[in-house]
This record gives sequence, structure tokens and C-alpha cells, in this order.
Amino acid sequence: MTNLTNVLVPTSADDAAAAFGDGSGVTVVAGGTIVMPDIKLGRLCPERTLYLGRAGLDRIERSGGMCRIGAATPVSALVDGAPEPLATFAAHVGDREVRGQATIGGNLCAPATATFSRGDLQAPLLTLDARIRSAGSTGERTDSIEDFLAAGPDGRLVLEIEVDEPKRAASASVRRPHAHAYTILAVAAAETAAGIRVAIAGAGPRAVRATSVEQALADGASPEDAGQKALDDVDPQDDAIASGNYRRQVLPALVTRALGDLS
Ligand SMILES: Cc1cc2nc3c(=O)[nH]c(=O)nc-3n(C[C@H](O)[C@H](O)[C@H](O)COP(=O)(O)OP(=O)(O)OC[C@H]3O[C@@H](n4cnc5c(N)ncnc54)[C@H](O)[C@@H]3O)c2cc1C
Repeated sequence: MTNLTNVLVPTSADDAAAAFGDGSGVTVVAGGTIVMPDIKLGRLCPERTLYLGRAGLDRIERSGGMCRIGAATPVSALVDGAPEPLATFAAHVGDREVRGQATIGGNLCAPATATFSRGDLQAPLLTLDARIRSAGSTGERTDSIEDFLAAGPDGRLVLEIEVDEPKRAASASVRRPHAHAYTILAVAAAETAAGIRVAIAGAGPRAVRATSVEQALADGASPEDAGQKALDDVDPQDDAIASGNYRRQVLPALVTRALGDLS
């Protein structure tokens, strides 16, 4: 049975943080594209539901070489409003209907499943050196995206994501047969003040930074040689969408293509 009787609807970021508290017993709903089917099908029975749609967390601000994105910003707004390669990755999420409803915060916090990975925006956020501002039991804090992904979203309410505007950016992905298929494999690359960063989505439960590729580039390797290093960074797994073997065959070429487009 769907139980949505105890729904909190904050109208500001401060109210959202206060309502979230330490997160115990709270289920956050942003766009709801993942969490609402789970509630509807009885896979999730929230004690309290925190709906972010009216909390004023849906703004994109670009100034001073930085871009600040509210956690409840729809993916569709990123397509024209966010720096690359985030904009291109956003354009490839689901279909028009999903992009209009889904949010960047929900994508960042999307729980991995055993059958496929989701959270395509994690890879471009890794390349843009994203900082994640969140609230929780220890109050407000800002983490690097790597620390945030390593710790997982439990007990944290994401409020805002800040990224650097890149000097240049590129991406490459395996095309999908239709809009409701999740990503098979995608590579993001960007140069910011932090240097060239490369990240891979679709090879495991969450996106991973390709530090071996980055090191090879820093040592002067060609895009082809650096692309081969990607298999030192990830060990692609079988899932419902593609085999690990297929991904291993394709990944170096995708990295090479993204790096070629970057230069
Ligand atoms: C048909 C279809 C196709 C899809 N295709 C893709 C795809 O191509 N690529 C892709 O990456 N995803 C895809 N998705 C998955 C999903 O739509 C996206 O990942 C989306 O960005 C999730 O955002 P949301 O706001 O809807 O999340 P929600 O469903 O609202 O939440 C998802 C999870 O994040 C938590 N959460 C949400 N916001 C916050 C916050 N601010 N702080 C802390 N926790 C939070 C929720 O509690 C929940 O656990 C698809 C989904 C569907 C239904």
C-alpha cells in the first residue's frame, strides 16, 4: 500500500535541512523518478517523506569561473544551462519526460542496483572537480565529489553542487538503442584549474575517476596509449545491459575518442 501521509514540503533550503535533521526515518523525494516507483510498488515504506520540489533548490548560477547548481535542478535545465561535459551527459539521460522530472541531486544519490548502474551525471561531475554541499547530523559541510561518492548519500541531504567552468571538455559514449535504456558506458573528460580529469560511467555501480589515464596523459602519453590505461582504473562488470567483456573491449576506444576531442 502506498503510504504518503507524512509528507514534509519545505519552502527553503534551511527548512529542508531542519526537516531532514540527521536523516533517520526520512525518505527524500526530488524528481521521484526512482523513489516514487519504489514507494508505489511497496519496495520502500517511508516513515516520513521530504519533498524538495518547493525548497528553492532549483537554480543554476554561473559567475567567476564557477557554476552553482541547486540539488533539485531538473536534468532538462542542465542541457542548456550547465557547463560541458555535464550538459551533454544531461541530454542523454532517459527521454524528455524523464529529464524534465529527474534532478541532479537524485542522479548523484541514485542508489546502485544489482542489474545496472544509474547516475550518469556522476562522471562529468568528477571531471569538473565538483564540491557537494550537504546537511545532516553533523550540520552543513562541503565534500569533494570523490569523498561524497565513497561515503554514500546516507544521512546527508544534498543542497547544492558547485563545479568549475572547464577550459575544454569532451565526452564519448556507446549509443543506446532507445531512450529507456540505461547507459552502457560513457567517458567524460575536462580540463579545469585542477588539470585534466577523466571519469567513466557504466562500468560499475557508480562512476569512477580514471586516475591511471590522467597520469599517463601527464606523462605525455598519446590519447591511444592513455586510453589503454582505463582498464587499470575499472574492471567492467556484467549486468542486465551489457557484458563486462564487451565493455572491456570498447572502453579504451571510448577514452581515446574523448581525449582526441579534448585536444
Ligand atoms: C525511464 C527511465 C530512464 C532513465 N534513464 C536514466 C539515464 O539514462 N541515466 C541516468 O543516470 N538515470 C536514468 N534514470 C534514473 C533517474 O531518472 C535519474 O537518475 C534521476 O536523475 C534521478 O533523479 P530524481 O530527482 O528523480 O531522484 P529521486 O527518485 O527523487 O531520488 C533518487 C534517490 O536519491 C535520493 N535523493 C534525491 N535527492 C536527494 C538530495 N538532494 N539529497 C539526498 N538524497 C537525495 C532519494 O532519496 C532517492 O534515494 C532513468 C529513470 C527512468 C524511470
